[in-house]
Amino acid sequence: MTNSNNSEPKSIEQIRDDIDNVDSAILRLLAERQAHSRRMAREKGRSDVPSRDQNREEDLIADRIAGGLDHDLDAGLVSRLWREIVNDSVRVQQDVLGRTQGGPDTVTAAIQGIEGSYSQLAAHQFFESKGIDVTYATSKTFSEAVSSVHEGSADVAVLPIENTTSGAISEVYDLLLDSGLHFVGEVRFRVRHRLLGLAAASIPNLRKIYCHPQAVAQCSEFLATLDDCEVVYFSDTALSGKRIGELNDPTVGAIASEDTARLYGLQVLKTGIADREENYTRFVVVGPKPIEVPPGVAAKTSLVMAVGNHPGALMDALGVFREADINLIMLESRPIPHNPREELFYVDFEGDLADVGVKQVLESLTRQVRFLKVLGSYPSRDLRPKPAAARSGSVEPVGRGQLVDPSPSTDNPKGYKLGSRGHKPNNTVVEVLGARFGGDDLVMIAGPCAVESWDQIMTTAKAVAEAGASVLRGGCFKPRTSPYSFQGLGFEGLDMLAEAGKTYGLPVVTEVVSPSDVDQIARKADILQVGTRNMQNFSLLSAVGRTHRPVLLKRGMSSSLDELLQAAEYILAEGNQQVILCERGIRTFETSTRNTLDLSAVPVLRSRTHLPIVVDPSHAAGKRDLVAPLALGAQAVGAHGVMVEIHPDPETALSDGPQSLRFDQFEALMAALGIPPRLSGGAG
Ligand code: PEP
Ligand code: MN
Repeated sequence: MTNSNNSEPKSIEQIRDDIDNVDSAILRLLAERQAHSRRMAREKGRSDVPSRDQNREEDLIADRIAGGLDHDLDAGLVSRLWREIVNDSVRVQQDVLGRTQGGPDTVTAAIQGIEGSYSQLAAHQFFESKGIDVTYATSKTFSEAVSSVHEGSADVAVLPIENTTSGAISEVYDLLLDSGLHFVGEVRFRVRHRLLGLAAASIPNLRKIYCHPQAVAQCSEFLATLDDCEVVYFSDTALSGKRIGELNDPTVGAIASEDTARLYGLQVLKTGIADREENYTRFVVVGPKPIEVPPGVAAKTSLVMAVGNHPGALMDALGVFREADINLIMLESRPIPHNPREELFYVDFEGDLADVGVKQVLESLTRQVRFLKVLGSYPSRDLRPKPAAARSGSVEPVGRGQLVDPSPSTDNPKGYKLGSRGHKPNNTVVEVLGARFGGDDLVMIAGPCAVESWDQIMTTAKAVAEAGASVLRGGCFKPRTSPYSFQGLGFEGLDMLAEAGKTYGLPVVTEVVSPSDVDQIARKADILQVGTRNMQNFSLLSAVGRTHRPVLLKRGMSSSLDELLQAAEYILAEGNQQVILCERGIRTFETSTRNTLDLSAVPVLRSRTHLPIVVDPSHAAGKRDLVAPLALGAQAVGAHGVMVEIHPDPETALSDGPQSLRFDQFEALMAALGIPPRLSGGAG
C-alpha cells in the first residue's frame, strides 16, 4: 500500500481517486436518504399525514444553507442542491403513496412482447418505483394483453400509448376505447434502441434487419443510411432479437434494447440509432377497476370525448377547462372506429376525479359534447405535486358511468339531472348524417316495421329518400310479444338495412334488444333504438350509453315521463349525450286504438328536458288511417321528429301491416307536413 501521508503532496491521480471516493460516498448517502423517504411515505400513508408539507421543505432548505455556511459552502449551491434532493424525495414518496393503499405487494402485468421488450422494461420501472414485485403475462398482441386482464390471468396491462418521435400508437387508443378497462397509472420510459447482431456480425455485412414498426419509425434516419439491407417488420422488439440469435446468421440484425442483447447473447453493433436522442414512450397501466389517488399526490385524468361538427364545437368543449383553470396536458384525435367520418378526442388534464373542480368540469362538459367517457385518474410524475385539492366529502372512486354526483339533491329531485333543462338550458341537437333532431325543422323517419328482404328494404329506402324523409328505419331484431311471431332477420337484415341506407344516402335506425348485440349493431346502424318493452332494461341502457351512436329511446307503454327521463339518464350517465326521446302511445282503458297517443307528453317533455322528442303515431294508433292526423298533431304540439311505418305492400307485411302506410299515403303525409320531396329521383 502506498503511503498516504497528508504532508506529502498528492499526485493528480491520487486527488482524482479521493474525489471519486467522496462521490461514491455521496451516491451511497443519497440512496440511503431515498430509502428513508420511502419509509417515511409508508408511515405517512398509515397515519394519514399529508404527503407534502411545503413549510417544512422550506425550513429544511434554510437549515441546510445555514449548515453549509459553517463549512464555507456557497448558499446558492446548497440551496440548488437541496431543492433537487427535496424534489426527488417528494417524487419518491408520491410513488409509494400513489400505490393504492393496502394494495398488493405483487402483481401480474400483461405486456405485449416477451422478456426484454420495452413494455416489460417499462412495467419493471413502474412497479419497482412503488416497491411492488411483478411477474409478467406475455402476449403476442395488445388485444391479447387486454384480454388477460378481462379473464383475470393478469391484474393490469402495461401498454405503450405514445412516443416522442413517432407519435400516438393508434392501435392501443382504439383498443382501450372499448376495453372497459380503467387507467390506473402511467410511466414515461426512455427508449434506447440498439442495433443488435451475432458476435460475428458487422454493420456493412447486414442484409436484413428485423424491426418493430415503431422502431422503424423512430430510427428512420439511421435505417436510410444502410445500403442493400432490407427491413423486415416484426411484432415484438425482444422477439426480433431472440429470433436472430436462433437463426445464427450474421447477416441478420435486429433493433431492440440492451437488455435484449444481454438476454439472448447478442452483440450491440451500434448505439444512438434513434432519430432523436431523447426518445420516450409513454405507457399506460390499465386495470379492471378505477383507483383512488391519495390526497396530495399529483394526479392526471384521461378522458375521451366526441364533439358536435359545428364550427367552434371543440373550442367550446376545451373552453370548459379554461374556465375552470384546469391545465390540459394532451389532446389527440382519432377517427371513431366503424364511423370514420367522425373524430374522437383524447384529453389528458391535471386533476383527480375526486376533486370538486374536476367533477364540475365533467358536468359542464356534458352540455358541450356528444359523448364523454372518463378513462381514469392516476398518479403522474409529470406534474408538480401540490397541496391536496378540495374534495367532495368522501373520496369514493368515480367510475366511468358516474359523470355526476348521483346523490339526490334539490336540482334533481326526480332522479335525473343530465337530461334536465336545469342542467342544460339549450336544446340538444342530435345530428346524424345531415338529419338534425332538436333543430327547427321536423325530421322524418320512415321505413318498414321489420326488414323482410333485399327487395322490400331497397324499394322502401327509395320511397323514403324520394319523399324527402331523412332517416330509414327497419327492425332486424324484433321484440315480439309472442314468441311465435316473426322475430326479424337479425344481422342479415342489418346488412340489408345498412346497404339500403348507403344506396339512398339515408342514416338508418334499428332496434337493439340485447346488451350483448349492442357493439356489433353499433358498427352498422347510425342510430340505436331501444323499444318500449326495453325502456327499463337497465343493462341495455348502459350498454347503448357506452357507444358513440345516438339512441332513440321509446317511452315504456306503462311508464311516466319522469320514468322515461330516468331511463334516458342511464344512457347519459355512461357518457353518451345523444339521446332522442320517443312518445309511441301508452296503455289506457281505451280500446279503440292499439295504444293511446299521449300528445301532451311533447310539451311536458320540452319543458323538462333539452333532449329532442320524436312521436311515433304508427305504434300508438295501430291503424293506418289514424297515422296522418296524429302525425300532424305531433307537429302542431312541437315534436322535433315523426317516425312512421311504411311498406310496399302492407297486406303481406310480416309485422304491423295494419298500421303501415302505403307509399302513396306516405307521400301525401309528407306533403301535409310541408316537407318537400327530394329533387332528383333514384340513388344518391
Ligand atoms: C318499433 O318501432 O319497431 C317498435 C317495436 O316499437 P315499440 O317498441 O314502440 O313497440
Ligand atoms: Mn312495428
